[in-house]
Amino acid sequence: MRATRAIIHLENLQYNIGLIRERLPKGTKLCVPVKADAYGHGALRVAVAAIRSGAHFLAVASVQEGIDLREAGIVAPILSLSLPIPEEIPLIIEHELTPLVVDGEFIHQLGEVAKLMGKKVPVHLKIDTGMSRIGCAPGQAAFLAKQIAQEKHLVLEGTATHLAAADSTAPQDIAFTRGQLAQFDRALEEIRNEGIDPGIAHAANSGAVCQYPEAAYGMVRPGILIYGYPPSEDLKDCIPVKPVMELETRVVAIKKIEAGTAVSYNRTWTAPEDTYIATLPVGYADGLLRRLSPGMSVRIGDKRFPVVGRICMDQCMVDIGPDPWVQRWDVATIFGPEPCGESARDLAGLADTIPYEITCGINRRVPRVYLGDEARNW
Ligand SMILES: *Cc1c(COP(=O)(O)O)cnc(C)c1O
Repeated sequence: MRATRAIIHLENLQYNIGLIRERLPKGTKLCVPVKADAYGHGALRVAVAAIRSGAHFLAVASVQEGIDLREAGIVAPILSLSLPIPEEIPLIIEHELTPLVVDGEFIHQLGEVAKLMGKKVPVHLKIDTGMSRIGCAPGQAAFLAKQIAQEKHLVLEGTATHLAAADSTAPQDIAFTRGQLAQFDRALEEIRNEGIDPGIAHAANSGAVCQYPEAAYGMVRPGILIYGYPPSEDLKDCIPVKPVMELETRVVAIKKIEAGTAVSYNRTWTAPEDTYIATLPVGYADGLLRRLSPGMSVRIGDKRFPVVGRICMDQCMVDIGPDPWVQRWDVATIFGPEPCGESARDLAGLADTIPYEITCGINRRVPRVYLGDEARNW
């Protein structure tokens, strides 16, 4: 196996799910987003661990992600969060995925194909209350719910919205979020006033799970919290979750360089004194963003060492000082749970992004290794 690997601490994933479930009102369902290969952690293994920890629903982004889980034997309900194209409708029905619906034309098409295939399809009506991404206008929700109720081959299993700024503690964002929730409440009431059951109502992402317990409704959909990061720096102390992914590699070469010697492309760093350089076989083609240097460090043993010079496609270099005890083949940790050194949050700060993009970016070239009881029972 390659030196560079992502260790997935399923015990932390299950711990995080436990912490979140403890805070939810009794009876609230949990939907675990496993889109984008479970934020880079591996959708199938995360799905199984999440279901064993009490998740009721899984959520994917594309129809293909849902099919992959079905083909691997997952039978739990799978909500598809992005809108499909009409050609994907037969696949959604065949693999028993649960689509979001947002307009009358699609509801009609879905109903027709369901009828042809002789199946009854559960759908969730998505309402746009301020994200301006997908969803019907709140004022249209009751009308569309009625249309779904009239389709013999569709069932309105749920009604959902998505919050645009639930992870912010700025007063104007709090007011905006409360406005989104008020619009959602009103739409739910209008659906009920038509004599239609809106099914499982859901709105809460990680930000809302931290900050708006009243927005749990029938189900919550926290993603990043389950993977061990707060949804924003504003909410960094909200729930003490533990990072699930640890990225490590090994020192593959050590060389002495003299003061004045430059390291890596374009000679952006020059050794101020005689020192030793350790080379690591990990680079931006693995997802270690090039803009993390200068600034990032790695942990070897119990000490942190700076990455010097530009991160290359497949390798990077670390200054281990003039009198190193580091040895060739030693493990170097790039990020992970305590006490691994930096976390994906630190790296996100350095690269002016969010932890989501750091873990999603660790690509398929990096093998995943699973730890925890869950991994032993696999
Ligand atoms: C990705 C996603 C979530 C989870 O968001 P987090 O910020 O990771 O908690 C919830 N709902 C929808 C619709 C999403 O697309």
